[in-house]
Amino acid sequence: MDKAALELRQLSHVYVNDKGAALALENIDLSVARGEFVALVGPSGCGKTTLLSLLAGLFAPTVGQVLLNAKEVTGPTPKVGYMLQQDYLFPWRTIRDNAAIGLEINGTKSRSAMKLVDEWLGELGLAGSGMKYPHELSGGMRQRVALARTLVTEPEVLLLDEPFSALDLHIKLQLEELVQLTLRKLGKTAVLVTHDLAEAAAMSDRVIVLGRNPGHIKRTFFMPVELREAGPMEARKHQSFQQAFDDLWTELDSEGETRSVPHA
Ligand code: ADP
Ligand code: MG
Repeated sequence: MDKAALELRQLSHVYVNDKGAALALENIDLSVARGEFVALVGPSGCGKTTLLSLLAGLFAPTVGQVLLNAKEVTGPTPKVGYMLQQDYLFPWRTIRDNAAIGLEINGTKSRSAMKLVDEWLGELGLAGSGMKYPHELSGGMRQRVALARTLVTEPEVLLLDEPFSALDLHIKLQLEELVQLTLRKLGKTAVLVTHDLAEAAAMSDRVIVLGRNPGHIKRTFFMPVELREAGPMEARKHQSFQQAFDDLWTELDSEGETRSVPHA
């Protein structure tokens, strides 16, 4: 890992609406190395989605800076891809045309780009589904389409806002595996927001626990090397996994809001 792909410098964000002003994030300093996989966990309302939106350049922070490859982010860029919990596929478009939406937005749709769409659909196990419509696919397949759509535009950084949380457990585990191995193979930088501490520990190089009122970085946990090197399934079987999970649990529990049950 060389220099920072993403950086937040002394960033604070205030939402202003007709009810007044609310400080959502305060004084966030964060640097994510190229190729690093970082997870953000924290109680609901602590500013995780706000943080990802700022990283995506969807709006500017009230105070501070967002840097991508040492350049200030001033708006959305094709270099940053965003994948959400909801897949937001258009029901009237085929899978193939859904996966090509990012290319259309960027103005880079071409015959060769469509070949890349087909290659990604194949790579993600959707080779026979290109001409189908979203309603014909399962939830896990739809999230794979959303991943293909994000990857075909070849972003350097992927922002993932709870992309697995609506899925059944075994599909979720399979998708964690697929996403992590794919991003690692491509050397992508990733920031994952999740409620699932086991998922955070199994997938990431580093887990950042946020606290709220206002949102701030509470503590950072570097995952042990044997967990980082293993894929998510394999990591769960390691002896140090339980300890990593317990450390996260304890930190989050001190925030007074954990909603899942500790891992057995
Ligand atoms: P999380 O994703 O961690 O649940 P969010 O980033 O969605 O948290 O929200 C952080 C805080 O900012 C919350 O208090 C939320 O109510 C507030 N907030 C989020 N979006 C807006 C908005 N568009 N306008 C006003 N307040 C907002
Ligand atoms: Mg959120």
